[in-house]
Amino acid sequence: MAVKSRHPETLALHAGWRADASTHSVAVPIYQTTSYQFDSPEHAANLFALKEFGNIYTRIMNPTNAVLEDRLAAIEGGVAALAVASGQAASAYSIQNLARAGDNIVSSTDLYGGTWNLFANTLKDQGIEVRFVDPTDPENFRRATDDKTRAFYAETLPNPKLTVFPIAEVADIGRPLGIPLIVDNTAAPLLARPFDHGAAIIVYSTTKYIGGHGTSIGGVIIDGGNFDWAAHPQRQPLLNTPDNSYHGAIWTEAVKPLGPIAYIIRARVVLLRDLGAPLAPFNAFQTIQGLESLPLRIAQHSRNADSVVTFLKERKEVTKIIHPSLATGEAKARADKYLKGGFGGLVGFELAGGKEAGVKFIAALQLFYHVANIGDARSLAIHPASTTHSQLSGEDQRLTGVSEGYVRLSVGIEHIDDIIEDLAQALDAAL
Ligand code: PLP
Repeated sequence: MAVKSRHPETLALHAGWRADASTHSVAVPIYQTTSYQFDSPEHAANLFALKEFGNIYTRIMNPTNAVLEDRLAAIEGGVAALAVASGQAASAYSIQNLARAGDNIVSSTDLYGGTWNLFANTLKDQGIEVRFVDPTDPENFRRATDDKTRAFYAETLPNPKLTVFPIAEVADIGRPLGIPLIVDNTAAPLLARPFDHGAAIIVYSTTKYIGGHGTSIGGVIIDGGNFDWAAHPQRQPLLNTPDNSYHGAIWTEAVKPLGPIAYIIRARVVLLRDLGAPLAPFNAFQTIQGLESLPLRIAQHSRNADSVVTFLKERKEVTKIIHPSLATGEAKARADKYLKGGFGGLVGFELAGGKEAGVKFIAALQLFYHVANIGDARSLAIHPASTTHSQLSGEDQRLTGVSEGYVRLSVGIEHIDDIIEDLAQALDAAL
């Protein structure tokens, strides 16, 4: 039996696993297997018919992945989760599980560049329209809704703008209409708890803070179990009409005896079955190792980032600092409401010397790695306009909050004196 607790520090170490029943292994084993032997022909038939739950094939489920899924669901206060091969797969599946050609979703404009591309181009090519709205006014989500709207989508702490999303305000607009809010909480694990504020689904790129060591790409979709998918059947046809690919199953009915998990079951047995981007068990193991220390790391990331902000404020060549602690008015009220225990490890800033100074600054860094990643235990830096956001048009870059001279730091957990020393020498070199 896994230990029961409501504290993330304990759940990160214990949820979903105690010891292996046969070997008594304390560490979660890596079940590096493609398939699982059936007990009998009847057992096999029952598994395929979903009359019984059990392992069939690693494209759809795996015991190592299951520990990660159960642990993350427990930490977030959700009911079930699905681990997938990347954060991108998690974002794509979270929407494809509700919307098909002819449908639309309404999304915040404040998104990671890869998600923006997925929404503006690939989903569009698949016939799913994404309507982008400015999240500053939550009512924009209602205004963009019509009877084909299947979901609202946003990032809690969108990178690079770092303006905290109004989770409860938008979830409250969607719920009476039968529209769930899907929240990408990648930049704020443990700091923000989207289910507490009415979000229905959380997605993560576990590649970032959850893994924390920069070894494994991965993603997860977590079902809050708090959304009544059957309340507005016309709004959610994929969960409320017969699924021809699964003996005409109506997911909200078929899964009812198992609890409020229709959404996540469909994602597993339809999307993973057909589109097939499961998390590799080895990556699940690595991600579990990272997750165990997440509570300690995320607190240290936040503390170090706060100190970096204090340092940057004193540097006259820094013309603008972007960090949730520096927000004003309603944005600050949202940062305080939704980020508990720290503002996270991301800091953006602009240099008086614009793009040229930004490029010189990046080139001069010695401790910080110049990489296209965030959330690693090490300090990282990048110039988004020439890298992560370079495939976006100038106008789309502006909408997502990237200016020519913007530099993004993902402040790591090294000693703060070393972090500041590196920033100071790189700023001197950029002058
Ligand atoms: N969501 C956010 C907020 C991200 O920052 C990223 C990657 O940078 C992703 C999703 C995509 O994750 P992955 O790189 O694991 O596919």
